[in-house]
Amino acid sequence: MTTRLPTRFQTVQLHIGIDDTDSTKGGCTTYIAARLVEKLTSLGGVRFTDYPNIIRLNPNIPYKTRGNAAVALRVEIQRTLYDVVQETALDEIETGSHIGQKGTDPAVVILMGHPTPEIKQFSRKALCDVLSERDAVKLVRSSGASAAAYGTELGLVGALAAVGQTLTQDHTFELIAYRRKENCGSPRQVDEASVVRMDKMTSPQTFNNYDYENKRMLIAPHGPDPVLFGIRGENAEIVTEAFRMVEVREPVERWAVFRTNHGTDAHLRVLTENSEVKPNRPAVLRGVVSGRPNRIPGGHVFFDLSAIGRTFTCAAYEPTGQFRETIANLLLGDVVTVYGGVRESAKGRSVTINLEKILIHQLVDKVRIENPTCPVCGKRLKSAGRRQGYRCEKCSLKMPDSTKRTTTEMRPIGTGLYVPTPKAHRHLTKPLCRYGQEKVWDHHPAIGRWHRP
Ligand code: ATP
Repeated sequence: MTTRLPTRFQTVQLHIGIDDTDSTKGGCTTYIAARLVEKLTSLGGVRFTDYPNIIRLNPNIPYKTRGNAAVALRVEIQRTLYDVVQETALDEIETGSHIGQKGTDPAVVILMGHPTPEIKQFSRKALCDVLSERDAVKLVRSSGASAAAYGTELGLVGALAAVGQTLTQDHTFELIAYRRKENCGSPRQVDEASVVRMDKMTSPQTFNNYDYENKRMLIAPHGPDPVLFGIRGENAEIVTEAFRMVEVREPVERWAVFRTNHGTDAHLRVLTENSEVKPNRPAVLRGVVSGRPNRIPGGHVFFDLSAIGRTFTCAAYEPTGQFRETIANLLLGDVVTVYGGVRESAKGRSVTINLEKILIHQLVDKVRIENPTCPVCGKRLKSAGRRQGYRCEKCSLKMPDSTKRTTTEMRPIGTGLYVPTPKAHRHLTKPLCRYGQEKVWDHHPAIGRWHRP
């Protein structure tokens, strides 16, 4: 005989996905998540089964505000608390979102139980494809999830995708510290020297703290949003330790550790057919350099790549820094794999790939062909006319049988992977220091303290 537990002791798993709450004027979806963490914790009867997740989606989406991030909270709650949890989430989104601002279309999706294979597939596609709110609405309905959406309802795409992306594969962590409301909009008071010290002590277990090429602190953003700074790393412990090393001259209103797909290359897909090349999607293509690199005013460098039976223009823009020197040194015939995003092309022009990184497989020899030098005075010889060899303009020596010399020059670049300067990385781009650090999620228990308050 089985005994049914009284309802007050029954628990259910919830996945709460939130997206599109902020605008260019301020706000941040992760901040709403951090506030919800505090509120849900204080309800009692709510247990977090994971750190809050930040899920970066297709970085090539034209209507993103900044980095196309959505968030998911995963909690086990007493069944009787369902209504109050839902109300708390809705209240927080309604009060914390910039509803009414152009391009702000907030949404929340609450799924009871676990994401279905269809939701998981939707999430995978949201990383590398362009989806519609209609698809999201259909899937929300068929899965029995509840949802609320405002404005165009586009936020449902990100909110549902966050629910389904449970980060079982490679993942990283970010501790985000937030500012007090009255300080938002003013320069962030974060001590640069302490960030460099923190980086030296914790990297490569933390990453993208400081851009040494541009002498620029990367942990603090520059906009009006409430993020004071964020530290990214391989586990929750190291980002918490690094957080304590950063000196700030303004109060930290709250902080929380998130689990994320930052720095994992989760968006990249190898394209093998022409039909897969579509604007606003990521692309990984292996091919041969078929047009010489060309630097244009503004410092951007372009070259042509022949791959999957057509020609692509590959672009390394000015912010990618030294990376452009590697691109500028490519030669016709070099074999490379390019990683980037497909940009909409003007009619009749070749498709452009905005480069995120490049893997050089094979370099052709750089051959220099030149006239021989004079054996008497060492000066470079001049042609004496068709099939008449060479003559020296200085000492008049004639060398009718001499021919051109070929020499192979050292290439200034080698084979291997090249990634732009960290300042130009996309949130999803895997930095060089993360290669070899990939891991799967084994549901470690949460560390002692992963948020405050
Ligand atoms: P931030 O990084 O500051 O949180 P953001 O860059 O994430 O902001 P949002 O304000 O969330 O930008 O806007 C992105 C919008 O694009 C959301 O409405 C989201 O639902 C939608 N979206 C995200 N990924 C896709 C996709 N693959 N296809 C279609 N829509 C998407």
